[in-house]
Amino acid sequence: MAVLGSASDARRALRRYRAGGAVVEHWALPGPGLAESLQRASLVVIATRDPLWDDVIATTRCATPVIRHAPASSIGHITLVGGGPGAPELMTVAARAALGDADVVFCDRLGPRSAVREMAVGAEIVDVGKRPGHHAVPQEQIERLMVERALRGEHVVRLKGGDPFVLGRGREEVEAALAEGIHVSVIPGVTSAIAAPSAAGIPVTYRGVSQLFTVLSGHTAPTEEQCRQLKALGGTVVILMGVGTVHRTAAALVAAGMAGTTPVGIIERAHTPEQRTTVCTLEDLSANVARVGCASPAVIVIGDVVRLAHCWPPEFATSAATFATDTAERRS
Ligand code: SAH
Repeated sequence: MAVLGSASDARRALRRYRAGGAVVEHWALPGPGLAESLQRASLVVIATRDPLWDDVIATTRCATPVIRHAPASSIGHITLVGGGPGAPELMTVAARAALGDADVVFCDRLGPRSAVREMAVGAEIVDVGKRPGHHAVPQEQIERLMVERALRGEHVVRLKGGDPFVLGRGREEVEAALAEGIHVSVIPGVTSAIAAPSAAGIPVTYRGVSQLFTVLSGHTAPTEEQCRQLKALGGTVVILMGVGTVHRTAAALVAAGMAGTTPVGIIERAHTPEQRTTVCTLEDLSANVARVGCASPAVIVIGDVVRLAHCWPPEFATSAATFATDTAERRS
């Protein structure tokens, strides 16, 4: 096939067709051998708005089918994309479109990683997330890499788990772009703060039960004062990044006056085939997290809405059982 247009305009079309295995002849400008190349090709792709190529096609009387491919943008920019909790179906249409238009994608550990390659066909995929045995690329370095690539004129997509602005350092990345005068846009995503409880059947609010929910980072356990405020506020408490500090958090909430019988749900790897939900009560939380071996990524939900979880056992209050679990395998 033949792709027509300057290297900058045609770069995305070139990458896509080459990634698909096509043998591509690229013509940035007309030159000797062009007419033969167009005749030989099974398909001609005009990947530029430059009218020059329409004239060329007309004068060479090329019989090969001709299609158009949108030229790549020549002004570098950054799009922060919220990828949702992990299932590709939970990505927005805007997120998919941004990936399809990317020159380079910087991915996190969480989010819809498996689908990135097929949505961002031909784009360079850079993994900046933390994996077991590997260190995450430090935040400042991620920002520097993104800025460098955008200054080269590329469309940089920063794919983040959930929503970029929920405990996701999204605003820092926006500021890094703005500081360099780079245009940046943000595509919101389905946050795990709501989607993980929902995957277990737990609504974060429910008329007559909970009219509000508070989302907090469990990266460091909440202070005594925060626990008192949470207790006073009522409603549902949703903790992200909280597995490592769950012992201290549970003790602090009970010390602040929250009932030990308050229901708690831990939803691990929500919206993935490995999803698992564990329910118990606040006083038994610590013991059950250890017993079941809960691991990150997990969302911890505390409040009466947890009684609505698919796996909340009706006999729970009266039996000796202190926890119940529900795995993706068990449900299917
Ligand atoms: N911006 C993200 C949150 C980033 S903090 C969002 O809006 O979802 C990372 C934490 O999110 C994890 O430690 C975990 O608490 C939670 N998380 C993200 N994806 C998850 C998933 N699929 N299942 C359970 N928890 C998840």
